[in-house]
Amino acid sequence: MLKKKEKEAEFVYKKVPVSPDEIDIFKPTKERVLVKSNSFEMAKNQIDIVAEKMGLNENITKYLKKVERSLIVSIPIKMDDGNLEIFEGYRVHHSTVRGPGKGGLRFAPNVNLNEIKALATWMTWKCSLLNLPLGGAKGGICVDPTKLSKGELERLTRRYTAEIINIIGPDIDIPAPDINTNAQIMAWIMDTYSMNKGRAVPGVVTGKPIEIGGSVGRESATGMGLFYILEALCKKLNLNLKSSRVVIQGFGNVGGTIADILYEKGVKIIAISDIKGGLHAKEGLNVKELLKWRNKFRFLKEFNKNNYKFISNEDLLTLDCDILIPAAIENQITHSNANNLNCKIILEGANGPTTPEADEILNEKGVIIVPDILANGGGVCVSYFEYIQDIHSYFWTLDRINQELKKILVTTFDNVYYLSKEKNVSLRIAAYMIAISRLAKAIELRGIFP
Ligand code: GLU
Repeated sequence: MLKKKEKEAEFVYKKVPVSPDEIDIFKPTKERVLVKSNSFEMAKNQIDIVAEKMGLNENITKYLKKVERSLIVSIPIKMDDGNLEIFEGYRVHHSTVRGPGKGGLRFAPNVNLNEIKALATWMTWKCSLLNLPLGGAKGGICVDPTKLSKGELERLTRRYTAEIINIIGPDIDIPAPDINTNAQIMAWIMDTYSMNKGRAVPGVVTGKPIEIGGSVGRESATGMGLFYILEALCKKLNLNLKSSRVVIQGFGNVGGTIADILYEKGVKIIAISDIKGGLHAKEGLNVKELLKWRNKFRFLKEFNKNNYKFISNEDLLTLDCDILIPAAIENQITHSNANNLNCKIILEGANGPTTPEADEILNEKGVIIVPDILANGGGVCVSYFEYIQDIHSYFWTLDRINQELKKILVTTFDNVYYLSKEKNVSLRIAAYMIAISRLAKAIELRGIFP
């Protein structure tokens, strides 16, 4: 007790940590850093490409290239050692034209406003493509959460929530988990918001623990969705998934879940990586063993098995395989490595893993890319199910969740696939065409206020 008081007496103001917003954790080369800091430019560039193909009205194009609002907040936290640290946080609404903003919250040392704006924009397309009555939003805090104690993490989350409280809510903007955030963090957001309102408001976030209004199947939803989409694609291409060799970049919630699902179906995962690098084995990895290792020791680097080779993330991307699943962060496949890729299909588990330049190179090479807004849409889809379950206070079974998820994803995949054939464009362009035209129609119908 005395110790705590002494600590408080020593409470000193430390300099605000410099945000390392130019750091790309997967490959900090100069070139990548440059692309990384321009995620929003990349998002706007994608709008231009599709707008031209669609002959989209110039005013609508102009409108879509702006975010509705961005909030930057300072988050002062009393650290366990008594010092004060001030972190920077963001919440961005790209569009709420089709409904409340929806999108994840990420905690990472490379988070910056540009990146969050891009991610919010991509959420708008994703929700519109899936035809969910939601808009696009995203949030983040520039922090390395592995350096925080549980108490510090809780204080950070609660203070961030208090700072953005006026722009979130079940009918304004509903955060959810993303990189380095989870159900516990959503519980702290829900509690902070609810305490402020004087009543329980479960609908303020999705991805909550089931005990406080979360949904079954939400945690595995993005990985499950990737699988449904991959299955649908294989059917169209007459490809035998079981005899395919898969490489996965990222071993978090998304990479880990899809690896687990595929492994259980008997598909060979020949390489998988985390932020420090990956493991490669031509005859296939034992994913169950690796998941156990990850849950206990976190990184794959220290995993010792004679026939598993440790490789860099850069080398992992260029491995000879049938299906490459980038399931980490944005800007991993760029013009500098696209030519060296050796896969037939790219299934984008991450948001924005491929730059437009790389996209062009790969399309020319004949690589089929299932774009992020379609491939990883399972997460936000089950978030939407959670949101409606909260509103109705009536909860669904896992069977119902997975059935409805599959229905939405497979229908959307079919629509994208047929449009891509009809217009002779890539799956990405077709997906964007559907998403943007749906949003453009909504903007037109609502008109511009005043
Ligand atoms: N963070 C996830 C995504 O990027 C889920 C967002 C949500 O459920 O709102 O799609």
